[in-house]
Amino acid sequence: MPSFDFDLFVIGGGSGGVRSARVAASLGKKVGIAEEYRYGGTCVIRGCVPKKLFVYASQYSEHFEDAAGFGWTVGESSFDWKKLIEAKDKEIARLEGLYRKGLDNAKADIFDTRAELVDAHTVKLLKTGQTVTVETIVVATGGRPNLHAALPGHELCISSNEAFHLEELPKSILIAGGGYIAVEFANIFHGLGVETTLIYRGAEILSRFDQDLRKGLHEAMEEKGIRILCHDIIQSVEKVGSGLGVRTKNDKALTVDTVMLALGRTPNTENLGLQAAGVAVNDQGAIVVDEYSRTSVPNIYALGDVTDRVQLTPVAIHEAMCFIETVYKNNPTRPDHELIPTAVFSQPEIGTVGLTEEEAAKRYPELEVYRAQFRPMKATLSGRAEKMIMKLIVNAADRKVIGAHILGHDAGEMAQLLGIPIKAGCTKDDFDRTMAVHPTASEELVTMYSPSYRIRNGERV
Ligand code: NDP
Repeated sequence: MPSFDFDLFVIGGGSGGVRSARVAASLGKKVGIAEEYRYGGTCVIRGCVPKKLFVYASQYSEHFEDAAGFGWTVGESSFDWKKLIEAKDKEIARLEGLYRKGLDNAKADIFDTRAELVDAHTVKLLKTGQTVTVETIVVATGGRPNLHAALPGHELCISSNEAFHLEELPKSILIAGGGYIAVEFANIFHGLGVETTLIYRGAEILSRFDQDLRKGLHEAMEEKGIRILCHDIIQSVEKVGSGLGVRTKNDKALTVDTVMLALGRTPNTENLGLQAAGVAVNDQGAIVVDEYSRTSVPNIYALGDVTDRVQLTPVAIHEAMCFIETVYKNNPTRPDHELIPTAVFSQPEIGTVGLTEEEAAKRYPELEVYRAQFRPMKATLSGRAEKMIMKLIVNAADRKVIGAHILGHDAGEMAQLLGIPIKAGCTKDDFDRTMAVHPTASEELVTMYSPSYRIRNGERV
């Protein structure tokens, strides 16, 4: 048996990397982990966590407005962007410290450096030039915003990375894309008082979500004052005075302070020595893995956004735990990518699990669709026009709930809980037998007794 410097070496200190390193080290394995930027990765440093803090910050403008309906007189309010950034940075530094502490407590060796593969069992630490030999390697280098290099003027645009560190809050912003990041940031910037326009190439934002929610959110965002341009893309960006001049495919000309591109993310696989080690990547540059997260080289695994699977933090963590079971607990475990609950932290929020109506209609001959659209209780006094939408998709043949879709406050929290009965295969009758919690919005999910409509062979009846 050859002897190695490390049992496991992890490249990348994000959600998947830190979890696999920490748990392996706690099992007594000799583990090294290298990160070139900051421990915590995209989610903690410049993704989910700071984004959610920004979402909270941006909701106050509506809270202040809503307060009047409940008898409050709110004095003059103002917002200080620098204070928010400072507070956010402090919290992110605290979390990064916790990530390091977890690794340290488990006795993993932490390296603050970029690392590259030399061959299938050798890793080079770039800061010192040191090479280490390794039995098993995990590549968990994540992804980065697609900079859209073909766009003239792309270098003048920001991505979500920069949005977390802007010196000043812009007065106006144009955000390109119709996915999670574009939609979430459009609502954040609007809530903070920025004149916001979203430009999206397709017919409706959030292409992978249920049509009802996409339309409902689009309407709610426009109602707030967010301008949404569909069927259009940015064609060029140039400097105009202190702002940016933008031309679109549909020949619109806009002048804004800031242009943000949120056009998907690219896996970080360049200059990692993957080729030298024999690790295959696909035509998108993502590492190809089998169902156990193993790459084309048997002792090298890849987890999270660097692979072409589902780009979500809990998925990367789950893949890491499956890796541990498979490699260190003699219990081969495939990550389960079915029925992943997810939320878009738009305002109103989207929470969803399972099949959309459109997907379900392609898969099953007959569906029952239970749908409720209503004004949430708080809006009766606040006077806000927002409507909540709740939808359950039921396979008529076995009564299983195969999709749940919510637009409205706390939809993300509801999606997490709905993920359990739907994963467990509960039927609509199980939902009907469940007592409501009153008065809540979510009680609607257990009180929709008869179908709003049916879909038979793809047709609404
Ligand atoms: P998404 O894949 O969600 O969205 C990318 C958007 O860019 C889509 O609207 C896509 O259009 C559009 N697009 C892609 N290429 C082009 C192009 N060449 N020209 C014009 N438009 C284009 O990616 P995001 O960048 O928003 O987010 C990355 C990932 O991060 C997400 O997939 C998600 O998994 C994760 N994330 C999760 C969050 C959460 O859980 N709340 C929050 C933020 C990110 P089309 O739809 O037509 O393909």
